[in-house]
Amino acid sequence: MIPVNPDRFLADLHQLRSFGAAGVGKGVIRPAYSAPDIAARQWLAGQYGAAGLEVAVDPCGSVFGMAPGRSLLVGSHSDSQPEGGWLDGALGVICGLELARAGAEAGVPISAVSFQDEEGRFGVTTGSRVWAGHSTLEDADALVDSAGVSFAEARAAMAGMVTGPVDPARFTGFLECHIEQGPWLHEAGEAVGVVSDIVGIRDMRMTFEGEQNHAGTTPMHRRKDALQAMLRFQSLIAERFRNVVTPQTVWTTGHVEVHPGSHSIVPGRCSFSMQWRDGDADRLGRMEEIIRDAAAEVAAQMGMTLTTSAMLGLEPVPMDPALRGALEGAAEAQLPGRWRRMQSGALHDATSLAKLMPVAMLFVPSINGISHAFAEDTDEADLVAGLKVLAEAVERLAG
Ligand SMILES: [Zn+2]
Repeated sequence: MIPVNPDRFLADLHQLRSFGAAGVGKGVIRPAYSAPDIAARQWLAGQYGAAGLEVAVDPCGSVFGMAPGRSLLVGSHSDSQPEGGWLDGALGVICGLELARAGAEAGVPISAVSFQDEEGRFGVTTGSRVWAGHSTLEDADALVDSAGVSFAEARAAMAGMVTGPVDPARFTGFLECHIEQGPWLHEAGEAVGVVSDIVGIRDMRMTFEGEQNHAGTTPMHRRKDALQAMLRFQSLIAERFRNVVTPQTVWTTGHVEVHPGSHSIVPGRCSFSMQWRDGDADRLGRMEEIIRDAAAEVAAQMGMTLTTSAMLGLEPVPMDPALRGALEGAAEAQLPGRWRRMQSGALHDATSLAKLMPVAMLFVPSINGISHAFAEDTDEADLVAGLKVLAEAVERLAG
């Protein structure tokens, strides 16, 4: 057994939290390239070095601790949301550190990583996407955050740490341990979840254009109220999805613009985001058909013009059968009846790496399903259970 040390692992997890510790409970504020983020990455590089790993920092600021020769890569990200919890990303990073350290002691080469800007200050999983070749560094450099700072300007703050590009061919696969960020494991009292696949995402913007008019003098039967069209559309798709979706399928309108946005004006235009996620590409397609048909029907019934943006799409990513099988075997051996196979509804760095190398993911419960909030937490017993399952899986893969 790779001799992972739970006390050392938990102490390092708390140490990482001290960079940007904020808010109530165990919250952190450690966005990509902020002073606490860079300080945390310097600390991490020191830990990798102390464990005898070769420290490398790529041009995006992703920090690697590399074992000699070819090895498995274990990690996640250490940047946080503008208001985040202490475990999102950090758990996988410290699992990587502890496994690489214990692996070195046991003669099993394991490398570790913390990718940069997973949380999307600039893009989505920017560091791992550039590393995996989904985006060039030049394209990433042009990305701008909400304050108008470019990726190029932000990453310049880490220039002193950069050692150069890191060759992905050094790694045989990628394992990422992450908090679930959903309620399923916590509700079932289970300790870990082995991810079967990461869901695909479709995302677009839709606009109903009706007729702007006076809210006091326009009788109800003469209105072309664009907000009402959006509401009718929402209830129509909810009804029609019923025969198509599973309990894991989700759809969200998270941003709505009502024009001109006045108490005394019947809104003439309503523009809104429409996003849906599922692990099955066919189902995503059937949902798209329902969405487009329902919107066209509502537009026709209510005298609206309908326009839709281009649709952005990410395909579902299945986990590698061998890596996933090792996690399942380890979970069954250590936690019989206390684990499950499950989908990931959130994107992770593993998504970026899937075309480059075999990837698999392990989840531990999020208490009350809360994440991207200061209140995010997991029982320490479950954190350690995740570490031990990961350690056994790595050993199964090595042997
Ligand atoms: Zn994360």
